[in-house]
Amino acid sequence: MSAVIIDGNAIASALRAEWKVRAESLKEQGIQPGLAVVIVGDNQASSIYVRNKARACRETGIYSEVHEFPESASENEVLHHIHELNENPKIHGILVQLPLPRHFEDKKLISYIAVEKDVDGFHFNNIGALVTGNAVFPPCTPYGVMKMLEKSGIQVEGQHAVVVGRSNIVGKPMALMLLEKNATVTICTSKTRDLAGHTGRADILVVATGKPKMITADMVKPNATVIDVGINRMPNGKLAGDVDFDSVKEKAGYITPVPGGVGPMTIAMLLRNTIEAASRVQAGALSRINTVNK
Ligand code: NDP
Repeated sequence: MSAVIIDGNAIASALRAEWKVRAESLKEQGIQPGLAVVIVGDNQASSIYVRNKARACRETGIYSEVHEFPESASENEVLHHIHELNENPKIHGILVQLPLPRHFEDKKLISYIAVEKDVDGFHFNNIGALVTGNAVFPPCTPYGVMKMLEKSGIQVEGQHAVVVGRSNIVGKPMALMLLEKNATVTICTSKTRDLAGHTGRADILVVATGKPKMITADMVKPNATVIDVGINRMPNGKLAGDVDFDSVKEKAGYITPVPGGVGPMTIAMLLRNTIEAASRVQAGALSRINTVNK
């Protein structure tokens, strides 16, 4: 029997309707949530993501600004700009669109974002909060995956979850969030021996490798939940995930499509984190966060 297809668009759209009510209520109290996106260079995929984020903000009642820098911009110029955004009271969330041009150091730029405005959850302090189970701004993509599992009624506790990929923005935080919900977690990387042996034992399999269709049906346990984070542009112009959807859907119990799976959830959780940042300002919760930045 074919797997249940988890509709990321539908789940994200229901969540966004909730966030819109929260954003409107904050606005009535005098704070309109505001997001600033910093983008450097002319990466085509990044420009599309940024446009989608700005549109999603508008639709949810969140104020947004896009700050574009040419590839030739210096690191200092961008750091100075982030500093100004940190001080700007209209802005509650700041994100730096990745990847950055080579002469930029991701970690350095992200560490300049004020912790209480780091809605991507990538600042070291926010990662530390995540590791200790105290996340305020969980990284949006794995957070979106957790929400999808919850909204689809998929049990996490006690399940064997296998995460393929260990990037700081997807794989590692994904594994931590699954662990926090009491899954038994295995992380696989490009150096893992017998990958299929690991993925084949997963009750929940999350794949974030950037390698199109690399997970095939023979690597999946019957009735497993398969979450495909990958977004890959194929030579024919179409998008494909890291999972071979057509074969795996005949074996899995649940599966996410690409597009229309994790992608829309990532944006929904960004909106959530921005609204959360604004409501913490509104509630005067700022003092509870360590705002020391270098
Ligand atoms: P990275 O390139 O940063 O990380 C890829 C990870 O996959 C690495 O840890 C790498 O291992 C591992 N890997 C690569 N090849 C294999 C293999 N053959 N077997 C096992 N592990 C492997 O990618 P990201 O985490 O940033 O992104 C992953 C995918 O998710 C991309 O397609 C990206 O576009 C997509 N993405 C989607 C988002 C969404 O909203 N849906 C958001 C963010 C990303 P090693 O560490 O050993 O090199």
